[in-house]
Amino acid sequence: MPQPPSFARVLKTLEKFYGHPKPPKITDPLELVLWENVAYLADDEKRAAAFAALKKNIGTHPRQILDASPADLLEITKLGGMVPELRAQRLRQIAELAHWIFKDDLKSVLKKPLPQAKKDLKRFPTIGDPGAEKILMLTRTCPLLALESNGLRVLLRLGFAEEKKSYSASYRAVQEALKDQLPSSYDALIAAHQLLRQHGQELCKRSLPLCATCPLQSTCRYFQGRGSAAIPE
Ligand code: SF4
Repeated sequence: MPQPPSFARVLKTLEKFYGHPKPPKITDPLELVLWENVAYLADDEKRAAAFAALKKNIGTHPRQILDASPADLLEITKLGGMVPELRAQRLRQIAELAHWIFKDDLKSVLKKPLPQAKKDLKRFPTIGDPGAEKILMLTRTCPLLALESNGLRVLLRLGFAEEKKSYSASYRAVQEALKDQLPSSYDALIAAHQLLRQHGQELCKRSLPLCATCPLQSTCRYFQGRGSAAIPE
């Protein structure tokens, strides 16, 4: 099996193929938590529409969300796909935590030592280690490479690590493999996250990767092995 390419080469190839990604619009920690919860299994367009409605009709300050009626919150989460009732409850739960525990200032969490900051962020619904790391990366708090499922799948297929029994173990294995190859700037880390995600969504799809048109084909372990490499869920 071929060795994986250098991470820098992967990123350069993806950037040449897709273009340089636009910087993310949301960089506030509480808004990032709300962004994750306002929609479920929705594409970016639908999620953005639900989030925009939340901002416009209710607001994203904890007090504004606490003042909203359950019906108003439900109207928002209905824009974001499945199980809207549960997600409306979660918006309220997020606002309660932000208001009562973090005194309406989630940015204060970002000033804490990394383990405590992650622990605090993981108190919010649906935020696990990858979600907390994404918030820490997008808020430029900690220079780490957060990966979501698309990006992780791409890197496993390229051969940066073997798939493990659990998603979290695979995630850690890839991060360990990349730890000495990460770009040094926040801009580059964020762009790497975005490019890997885009590649996983558009070509390196979960069930049927479109390898024939992939610019990484010549150095991809999955392609060379035609199915013998790991394919995470
Ligand atoms: S060659 Fe196929 S499996 Fe490999 S990165 Fe490209 S799309 Fe994914």
